[in-house]
Amino acid sequence: MARYAIGVDLGGTNLRAAAVDSSGKLIERLSGRTNLAAGRDAVVGDIVDSILRLRTACGDGGLAGIGVAVPGIIEMRRGIIRESPNLPGFNDFPVRDEIERRLQAPVHLENDANAAALGEKWVGAGRDVDDLVLLTLGTGIGGGIICQGKILHGSLGMAGELGHIQVVPHGNPCACGGHGCLEKHASATAVSLMARLMGLGDNLTSEEVYQLAVQGNSAAHVVFATMGRALGVALADLINIFDFPLYLLSGGALAAWDFFAPSMFEEVRRSSYVYRYSKPRIDKAELGTDAGLFGAACLPFMA
Ligand SMILES: [Zn+2]
Repeated sequence: MARYAIGVDLGGTNLRAAAVDSSGKLIERLSGRTNLAAGRDAVVGDIVDSILRLRTACGDGGLAGIGVAVPGIIEMRRGIIRESPNLPGFNDFPVRDEIERRLQAPVHLENDANAAALGEKWVGAGRDVDDLVLLTLGTGIGGGIICQGKILHGSLGMAGELGHIQVVPHGNPCACGGHGCLEKHASATAVSLMARLMGLGDNLTSEEVYQLAVQGNSAAHVVFATMGRALGVALADLINIFDFPLYLLSGGALAAWDFFAPSMFEEVRRSSYVYRYSKPRIDKAELGTDAGLFGAACLPFMA
């Protein structure tokens, strides 16, 4: 049996797990719902159960390790989720130790967007570079930074909270305590809010705003152009800071690429002189919702 690792991607909605070999080839996968209503213990039980099922299917012998990706701010050394809007009840919970205790095996814990960036680096759109930034556009915006092939963690493991870069001074207030954060101006939630402010409708999803843009609605076009500019401001900053060759965007909002990308590129060209010289790629990620899963499985191979 080839060496393999087990990766788990715990989201607020879905719980995915996979066995992946050392070359990044998927061996076996499982997916189910994250049963938050049943409580934290039951969710941890489901994580452990999916790992055990994959381990039984693939055999103990070749198992290189286990990686678990979770949404929220985590403290790496202690294996604790400090704050997670998507996982109520997990704040300050030592999730890594609890999984290790039940499995009797070591576990690598990682933030989900960091894991997604690593997944894209390993087998996705970033496989040919050593340095990249990933922005995951969803209800919020996550970020991951890969520097010289590795996740950039900072001192506690909280680096890469790129959704909370300020892009609009004195902009919309954010749960993080800041104002004008990227995720308040470029996430799916921000698209819905802008659509409301533009008089398009009170409870439109970002997908519905996208459909209006496809039909030629000019207010919907303004919404996506505004979103693109916010992304452009953040990307210009990131490019000026890192001078990396690749910046990736992922998430459902990519469907609206044609509507937000022109103003995004315009803003980047205007605001980043590093961009004008180094011409890095700003592109769509490739792995979709599987990026975090592959990244989680990659963690034991990186250790
Ligand atoms: Zn914020």
